[in-house]
Amino acid sequence: MKPETPPGHIDSFYAATMPPVAVRPPLQGHVQADTCVIGGGLAGLTVARDLAGAGQAVVLLEAQRIAWAASGRNGGFVSPGYAEGIEAIERRVGPDDARALWGLSVAGVEYVRDTIAELDPAGVAPVPGWLKVLRYDDAEGLRRRARIMAEEYDHPRDFWPVERVRETLRTTTYFQGLHDASAFHIHPLNYALALAEDGVRKGAVIHEMSPATRIDRSGGGWVVQTANGSVAARQVVLAVSAYGAGLWRPLERAILPVATYVVASEPMEDRLAEAIRFPGCIGDTRRASDYYRIVGGGRLLWGGRITTRRSEPSHLADSLKRDIRAIYPQLGDFRIEHAWAGLMGYAINKMPIIGRVGDGIWACTGFGGHGLNTTAMGGSLIAAAIANGDDRWRLFSAWGPRWAGGPVGRAATQLVYWKLQVRDRIEERRARRNDRAGA
Ligand SMILES: Cc1cc2nc3c(=O)[nH]c(=O)nc-3n(C[C@H](O)[C@H](O)[C@H](O)COP(=O)(O)OP(=O)(O)OC[C@H]3O[C@@H](n4cnc5c(N)ncnc54)[C@H](O)[C@@H]3O)c2cc1C
Repeated sequence: MKPETPPGHIDSFYAATMPPVAVRPPLQGHVQADTCVIGGGLAGLTVARDLAGAGQAVVLLEAQRIAWAASGRNGGFVSPGYAEGIEAIERRVGPDDARALWGLSVAGVEYVRDTIAELDPAGVAPVPGWLKVLRYDDAEGLRRRARIMAEEYDHPRDFWPVERVRETLRTTTYFQGLHDASAFHIHPLNYALALAEDGVRKGAVIHEMSPATRIDRSGGGWVVQTANGSVAARQVVLAVSAYGAGLWRPLERAILPVATYVVASEPMEDRLAEAIRFPGCIGDTRRASDYYRIVGGGRLLWGGRITTRRSEPSHLADSLKRDIRAIYPQLGDFRIEHAWAGLMGYAINKMPIIGRVGDGIWACTGFGGHGLNTTAMGGSLIAAAIANGDDRWRLFSAWGPRWAGGPVGRAATQLVYWKLQVRDRIEERRARRNDRAGA
């Protein structure tokens, strides 16, 4: 029988496999803190945990449940890098800063790895390895990319020829691949719950079901209001991602909400193990890539498709099942046990917005589709800035909050996605034709 979804969470594989956690009481009355963190996703939780660890009085306000949003719904891939490609980052800030930024993204991966090793939380289940595969034939291009990453960013990845990819993933959809041994996958909701628990152990106070409704200047600091209480704090950290609702407009206007979808199948151990012989993360290089992995009990957890439309497609489970069966027809028919959507917050240039955006106001947001390492890195950078004056967040200054264009921006982005998807399909069709001709 399908387990019940805990109150306040959506129906997902993760919510169905999280431990029972009581709601942390909503904020009542007026309290004081050194820092008020708004948003209990991975970004806000990391800031709160690190600040509490540094001896600060921290209050975190979460509108719903901890990691109720993207942080508890994602693919669970923890890998270096950003939503933006390293080439574009290098073009923007030059090779030295690009290398420093890449190093920070690796530090984010290490933060997650070290935290799991330290806390040893139940049900996070890290599994190493990430295989990124091409849906068209380009051995030379992929080798070149691997060389650049190894030589210029000290980040070696193994090149896998077509034969090895197809021996491991039993489909003719893919060509060559790169294997990154430094990446791994986790149960992100259980990881977020462990961060929250450790933050509280270190002294942070967390209030769930407590949406912040406004932020007002008061003396040398700020007062954050909720329906039944308020927090006076010298510093405020905004970590609300795609859910801004009038708290700090310049920041919210810079974030574009983009939806993406995930399904989890029923257990299909032997069939799945035969088709997918790789236990780590798997993804392709499409602009809206398929990403998937095998999770507990021989289930396939599969994510894909992106759109700026907020409404969930009516046949979400069927659509993703069709995508899966187009690649692995040998899986035959199977039941989708959970299907869900999640909202990512993207800045216009696909880089996170990390840093001071007002006197005592900090942003830790805009992590897009690459947030597991970057929320850890961004959260710890902001905590270090507030606690010790660490100014490494300035590396992100090149990408301060810029208006994302509102509804027009959403429509324009959707057009770009469609155009890129069409281009992907054309490249892939050509590759398949050549593959058949060569066979
Ligand atoms: C389906 C999906 C798959 C993904 N897969 C991956 C992946 O495999 N690897 C990867 O690296 N990244 C992935 N991502 C991206 C990653 O999940 C996000 O970048 C990351 O979780 C963002 O964390 P966050 O804390 O910034 O935002 P969120 O997790 O969205 O948290 C924001 C929180 O703020 C709260 N909030 C909003 N307004 C208020 C308010 N007024 N008061 C109080 N609280 C408020 C919300 O309730 C929410 O809990 C994926 C995302 C999605 C949606």
